[in-house]
Amino acid sequence: MIARDAIDAMLEAERARFAAANPRSAALASEAARHWHRGVPFHWMLDWGTPFPLFAARAKGAELWDVDGHRYDDFCLGDTGSMFGHSPEPVARALAKQVAHGLTYMLPTEDAVVVADELAARFKLPFWQVTSSASEANRAVIRWARAITRRDKVLVFNGCYHGAVDDAFVDLRDGVPELRRSLVGQVYDLRDHTVVIEFNDLAALEAALNKGDVACVLAEPAMTNVGMVLPDAGYLTALRQLTARHDTLLVFDETHTISTGYGGHSATHGPLPDMFVLGKPVAGGVPCAVYGFSAEVAERMERVRTEGETGHSGIGTTLSANALALAAMRACLTEVMTVEAYAHMLPLAEVLADQLRAVIAGNGLSWHVIHIGARGEFLCTDTPPRNGTQARAVMQGPLEHALHLFLINRGVLIAPFHNMTLVSPATTRTQVDRLAEVLDLCLKTLTGATR
Ligand code: PMP
Repeated sequence: MIARDAIDAMLEAERARFAAANPRSAALASEAARHWHRGVPFHWMLDWGTPFPLFAARAKGAELWDVDGHRYDDFCLGDTGSMFGHSPEPVARALAKQVAHGLTYMLPTEDAVVVADELAARFKLPFWQVTSSASEANRAVIRWARAITRRDKVLVFNGCYHGAVDDAFVDLRDGVPELRRSLVGQVYDLRDHTVVIEFNDLAALEAALNKGDVACVLAEPAMTNVGMVLPDAGYLTALRQLTARHDTLLVFDETHTISTGYGGHSATHGPLPDMFVLGKPVAGGVPCAVYGFSAEVAERMERVRTEGETGHSGIGTTLSANALALAAMRACLTEVMTVEAYAHMLPLAEVLADQLRAVIAGNGLSWHVIHIGARGEFLCTDTPPRNGTQARAVMQGPLEHALHLFLINRGVLIAPFHNMTLVSPATTRTQVDRLAEVLDLCLKTLTGATR
């Protein structure tokens, strides 16, 4: 247990240290505030807990430099968008080439053929579509699932996040569903069409599916947005069996769990879903996502389409699947997200997890380190959570905030939301060692061992 006054003292000291070390970021922040609402072009950029936004200058591989000339070991990697490294050479080359030949024509290119073959072989689903973000892919999948099953409900797990998808913004509080309190401007009662239950609760799943009105279960194979919650042994197999039995489509959103291995969690460990979503890193950081589906789903989609009126389906946006995105995705899938890349990432992430465990234990704390392939997480609790309620209960905002700021001030970036780390193909053992060293210093400061 870390004392609150130690956390407050660290926050105060680290805010002052950040302000002193980053004059150029401070100047840009005040200029940007003239016309950007809250001073940044996208409000998530305020979530780092720094007293003013850190302005980036450039990044390459697993390193990032800010405008004041500091270099960072980057374990955040754009919160997964750059999970395979910043500007991987093949993606940079493909982009440079495509840029001279038009960016968006609303026509397919040769790259589209290669990408679809690659997706089908890797993720073991035969049909694919492209969107501009994972949020958009999840919205499309939900819409298709409702259309083809003619059922209105979507089932999600408490504590989930699937992007800006309103249907998933329903939480359980003391076991009672309610709209996520932070959701802005939603006037519909999402609970009319969304069912929320706890992850790893098979009885609740069976009871919900028994009603026969759930179009799809939208899930990550392991929850990664509420700290990290792993599936119990056998849980995903049971989820697969129950959804099949109730004619409910199973959707795996593998936007984060692509860290598991070459085919994501589904193709690495099974089971395969009916529909599959992957965004963020799939085109090396160029806005792009894909969703895939089984032959049976494709056939049912086609029936809905041919039975309906012609016109706008409500699915898709103009810039989706443009030539630039396809060029980037081809390069990323075939030359960057390779078996060899995972062969570097996975063992190094294991080393990182072991080092974090050693540092935590060395500081007398009984925190938990979990990782799914290249994606790691340390949780300030001695028992790993099994569902969203348990995971939320162990989150410690001010402590995490102090810790992140301490790391930033010493040249290490981890994701600003909870304590997530990513190991990319470009990440080195030296960077891993440094993260462990800096965390050790941070914990020693917080527990008073350095005083
Ligand atoms: N799915 C999952 C599992 C995510 O974690 C996120 C974003 N964190 C998204 C979808 C949405 O991605 P995007 O913001 O790129 O649309």
